[in-house]
Amino acid sequence: MEYDAVVVGTGFGGAVAAARLAQADLRVAVLERGRRWPRGSFPRNDADLKDGWLWRFGRGLYDVRWLDQMISVQAAGWGGGSLVYANVFARPPADVFDDHWPSSYTRDTLAPYYDLAAHMLEVRPVTPDPATGHYPSRTAAMQLAVDGMGRPAGTVRPNLAVRFTDDPEVLEKNRHGAEQFGCTFLAECVLGCNRGAKNSLDLNYLTVAENAGVEARTGCEVTGIEPVEGGYRVRYLDHEQGESRTVTGSQVWLGAGAVGTTELLLRARDVARTLPRLSPALGNGFSGNGDFLAFVRRTKTPLDPDHGPTITTTSIVDCEIDGRRLWFQVQDGSYPRRLALLVAGLNPAHAPVEAIRGWTNRFRSGPRRGDNLMTLLLMGRDSSDGRLKLDHKAEAAVDWKYLANKDLYAAQSRASRAVARQLSGRTRLTPTWRFLKQAVTVHNLGGTPMGADPATAVIDEDGEVHGYPGLFVVDGAAVPGATGTNPSATITAMAERMVEHAIRRRLGDENWHAPELPDVVPADVPEDAAMLAMARARVQTVGHGVRFQERMTGRAHFPDGNAVVDLRLSVRLAGWKPFTEDSRHRLTVSGTVTVGAIATAAEVTGTLALFPDGDAVAMQYDLGFLADDGREWGLRGVKNQRTGNPLALWGDLTTLSFEVHPVEGERLGSGTVRISTPGVLSLGLSLRGEAYSRRDRLAARARFAGFFATNALRGLTGRR
Ligand SMILES: Cc1cc2nc3c(=O)[nH]c(=O)nc-3n(C[C@H](O)[C@H](O)[C@H](O)COP(=O)(O)OP(=O)(O)OC[C@H]3O[C@@H](n4cnc5c(N)ncnc54)[C@H](O)[C@@H]3O)c2cc1C
Ligand code: SF4
Repeated sequence: MEYDAVVVGTGFGGAVAAARLAQADLRVAVLERGRRWPRGSFPRNDADLKDGWLWRFGRGLYDVRWLDQMISVQAAGWGGGSLVYANVFARPPADVFDDHWPSSYTRDTLAPYYDLAAHMLEVRPVTPDPATGHYPSRTAAMQLAVDGMGRPAGTVRPNLAVRFTDDPEVLEKNRHGAEQFGCTFLAECVLGCNRGAKNSLDLNYLTVAENAGVEARTGCEVTGIEPVEGGYRVRYLDHEQGESRTVTGSQVWLGAGAVGTTELLLRARDVARTLPRLSPALGNGFSGNGDFLAFVRRTKTPLDPDHGPTITTTSIVDCEIDGRRLWFQVQDGSYPRRLALLVAGLNPAHAPVEAIRGWTNRFRSGPRRGDNLMTLLLMGRDSSDGRLKLDHKAEAAVDWKYLANKDLYAAQSRASRAVARQLSGRTRLTPTWRFLKQAVTVHNLGGTPMGADPATAVIDEDGEVHGYPGLFVVDGAAVPGATGTNPSATITAMAERMVEHAIRRRLGDENWHAPELPDVVPADVPEDAAMLAMARARVQTVGHGVRFQERMTGRAHFPDGNAVVDLRLSVRLAGWKPFTEDSRHRLTVSGTVTVGAIATAAEVTGTLALFPDGDAVAMQYDLGFLADDGREWGLRGVKNQRTGNPLALWGDLTTLSFEVHPVEGERLGSGTVRISTPGVLSLGLSLRGEAYSRRDRLAARARFAGFFATNALRGLTGRR
């Protein structure tokens, strides 16, 4: 055999395999179909789509594949998807490993490999822009939007594989010896970072691999694999020489990406028939990772779409749809104007290049810093039951069931609209989604299911292909289902584990580990906190809630005179279950209160007990606020309901008798405030259900109205 191992592809899986196998002193050849993209070489000619942008035009950077029922986007080059990815390093919550994964894979068993990957990729959350001292406007806007939806703990700043430094103009060696500038917040990460500030694989794992002696062959596209005595012969097209060549290795590690690897294996099984014993499950378990793309336009304040790394925040939505839990992520996205080219490329009617030029020209003058625009990148746990197959031209196509995922897509679309509303903007979805309901994925996963049974799985849990010893799958194809989070961290951690196991077996050394392991300091996992907070919020809001606004005005009488009182309250019932389980039936209250010269529109918070069990009062308010002089005050009041007097009902339920006093002090005032007749109308109109589906929102509102009416009537008869 010419080599101990041949690695195909240099994305996250391939790069890990190349580095670790070489560090274990094996002879390794790496075949990558794309070219090297050194600092400063990424395409920027937005007038010509054929100038390095697309794989199909001169083997450019982006490979956009129409997989029939889904569009898949990936990159080609030395570094694979890392060249264009949005740098997010995210770990999925533990329960993701309960479905589809073999039992040996859990968040805990993968933890050391995630930490190792985080160390190699040198991840950390976004810092303020050293030029301005501020975070990008999008970061705060997203945080505020999610806060505004009553989910203040739902947004975090995720770890990013980007070099943030105090002086970005200084060229420094990273921990692997590759030179990098610091990030200057150019927002072009998804177009390839021409400053070399993004920690793409060529600057870490692949640097390590080349330093350890791998033979790198770029522009070499693998076309076939066949078993030979002692290993495999790999056939490839050397694009630079225009020749077909072969190379042999006792092991082959496939890292051509979920679509690329599955397609290679399907062709080897069904077209060339060189690997006929491949499992019938080949192609199964394909997932688009619930990817959903939306744009928020015309926001009230500028969002600087071309400032900052592509993604700076992750927000978690965790909700119940028809009694089923559903969670997904929403991330803010930059929108460098050149990206418009690629978005135009997703339009099915894009073929005439002139049409694309038209789009390009439209966008050439913008968006710029100051524009009121943001992309929203959403992902979640889709059904992961797509099937990759070959079409009549022996190219990959996917069977994808839109209907099985419609709840997820609908919830994502609603969440996009909710974020847009909070930002006083409008949502725009991609034309392919609006007209064809065709999902676009940049996170394609699966195709070679993992498991012990060759009838239902292509690879075992160490990535080795059933029936073909020494042939491994090490990339996104091996991930057995949607991670719901950005998947590169999981692909890298899984690859680290697979390659470590294979090296240990090969060297007969149970203790072999990556040389960097002793230096690893476990990284923070910001997304865990948001996941946990949102899961708690969902449990607390089981049964969905309502909110409404009310205004009460009147007077308070103090020993030294009278004061006008104005209460403007926002009342919220977070979830029906906790509300009914609480015998006091408490709702949370926030808003403002004015009490003469004592407090002017002071923030007020507290609770409203609504028809508390076994209590004669209809409503009891317990509120607190800070007076203008900084002292704490309390306002406590009740609405009493007289029995047997329907004519008094309106007045009783709209009149609050209260006492107001400093928490420490003697000055006691008392009085009444009322909701005016138009105020009752506004209150009714402000009543909103809180849930992710319209049906659930209407149901929550009706249930609350029913509770109110029933208890008011019971109060009349004295039976409450
Ligand atoms: C715009 C964009 C943004 C993204 N943002 C994020 C993010 O923020 N965080 C995240 O976790 N993930 C992100 N992703 C997804 C991430 O890039 C992929 O999940 C990841 O790159 C997949 O890794 P992989 O090892 O499976 O394969 P890839 O990274 O796709 O690498 C496959 C490599 O194999 C090569 N190849 C393919 N076929 C052949 C062949 N026949 N012969 C030789 N070489 C071949 C390809 O050229 C490529 O270099 C993003 C993706 C895109 C497109
Ligand atoms: S924001 Fe700009 S400088 Fe920073 S990593 Fe992205 S492209 Fe590079």
